[in-house]
Amino acid sequence: MSYSDFIKECQENVLSGVGISSDSAAKLFEIPKEYIKELANAANQITREFNGNKVDVEQLNNIKKNSCSEDCSFCGQSAFFDTGIESYQLPSPTEVVSRAQKAKDEGAKSYCLVAAWREPSPKDFSKVCTIIEEVNNKVGISVECSLGFLTYDQAKKLKELNVKRYNHNLETAKSKFAEICTTHTYEDRLRTLQIARDAGLELCTGGIIGLGETQEQRLELVLALAAIYPEEITINILVPVPGTPLELQTPLEKSEIIRMFSVIRFLLPESVIKISGGRETNLDDSGEELLQSGANGIITSGYLTLGGNDADQDIKMIKKIGLEV
Ligand code: SAM
Ligand code: SF4
Repeated sequence: MSYSDFIKECQENVLSGVGISSDSAAKLFEIPKEYIKELANAANQITREFNGNKVDVEQLNNIKKNSCSEDCSFCGQSAFFDTGIESYQLPSPTEVVSRAQKAKDEGAKSYCLVAAWREPSPKDFSKVCTIIEEVNNKVGISVECSLGFLTYDQAKKLKELNVKRYNHNLETAKSKFAEICTTHTYEDRLRTLQIARDAGLELCTGGIIGLGETQEQRLELVLALAAIYPEEITINILVPVPGTPLELQTPLEKSEIIRMFSVIRFLLPESVIKISGGRETNLDDSGEELLQSGANGIITSGYLTLGGNDADQDIKMIKKIGLEV
């Protein structure tokens, strides 16, 4: 069978609800570069079929910045690395409310509270709960959280506070994980996702590509994510942070970035597939092509320690390619 026929067959299987096997996903990971455009177009048709023209637009608030106890080698907020990033502790609920309101006014559909922690202390967790209550009462935007490890009771509390989705990334393939982090394990991350799911929270998970992983390890991550079947997948593209061990990491080729998003779409036709950190710095078009290759979500107005496109620039881009927020 030709590569074109194979892509077509896989697409038909996804559109008919049969889906594709891990073996087929592995074969899609091996198709030659010159077929990536065909793969991307097929992924785009699947996206449109299952998700319409909507693009999920999210904004983040890094409510606790830097001095994290963990040694994730990509992360500029780890206390292990001297990255010169300013540190701050939890802002007042009023400050978060006004930022959440701005995000809503700018068209964001969700607002994610992110913390550079291994896990929240009981004291910090109750402060975050107050912030969530204030945002719920005064803004009414869908609040999501990414606070590191959670206990079941904490996850239950977030659910009671109407937190829709919990983000916790696998980061990379299980076979690569110990190379990029030694202060916690891949299993710790899987466990946190299970705790969040058991508490009734939707899941947002994914990781970072361009860490120096092999193509087989990117496939390994994709298959692990497909096995979890989260409501949202978030894929960052490494932004090398000066002072971290990965500061000189060579960037991934654009065709491999597209391949990743397109194959995830074949495996998870209904999920939100979000282009996260690194969208503006790694892609010459800020994700315009990726949004027509399987992705259907972006983070706008900047990331945790890095700036990004502002909201109206991104929304203009979305409308320019005939999609909607
Ligand atoms: N500390 C919590 C945790 O690790 O689960 C909250 C999330 S962490 C602050 C935010 C996410 O940003 C990470 O899970 C990682 O996927 C991504 N990230 C961190 N540094 C990055 C970098 N230099 N380039 C791209 N993505 C990065
Ligand atoms: Fe800490 Fe999260 Fe950064 Fe790891 S990714 S160092 S846990 S803030």
